[in-house]
Amino acid sequence: MDPDFTNRADIADLLGIPRPRTSVCLYPIYRSRVEIPEALLALATQWAQDRSKDPRTKVGAVVYDYETGASFMGYNGFNSGMPDFQVVWDNRERGTPNNKYRFVRHAEANAIEKATKLLGHLHGRNTVLVLTHYPCPDCMTDHIIPAGIKVVFFAEHHDANPTTATLAAIHGIALNQLTPPRTATEQA
Ligand SMILES: [Zn+2]
Repeated sequence: MDPDFTNRADIADLLGIPRPRTSVCLYPIYRSRVEIPEALLALATQWAQDRSKDPRTKVGAVVYDYETGASFMGYNGFNSGMPDFQVVWDNRERGTPNNKYRFVRHAEANAIEKATKLLGHLHGRNTVLVLTHYPCPDCMTDHIIPAGIKVVFFAEHHDANPTTATLAAIHGIALNQLTPPRTATEQA
């Protein structure tokens, strides 16, 4: 939303500074201001690029609590204690032994775990989940729904499982797509 400067003469009086001329437009200062979900998406994207060890798909998540300003970051990766065997990371054949999907914990699971550890159940809080990728049905049933999250933003949705949208409708969760930031993430 554009800032409202209708009272800026009054504000200048209040501050004891000269009233701005009407030709002075302050708006360009704010033109580069990024809305919170888009800013969080950029953070999640950067976090995944910097932290995820997955050689192909860097997935980032952030739970943001508007009330406190607290944010909780997550990225896709093995559980701590699991060595980063390249042969496991490289095995993308679902159904074969030791394929990477059996070992990777999803970004949203990691972010939500941190958020609920500190804030408890999130229902009724002004809290959003922002993801670089569309959430899978498992993360919906195991993490997003139980945590009480009602607003989810995502960027990529090339691999969108329709069950996710069904679950979101049943549980009253808003799924909103954002335009990905400049850094594109690689696809698995
Ligand atoms: Zn998932």
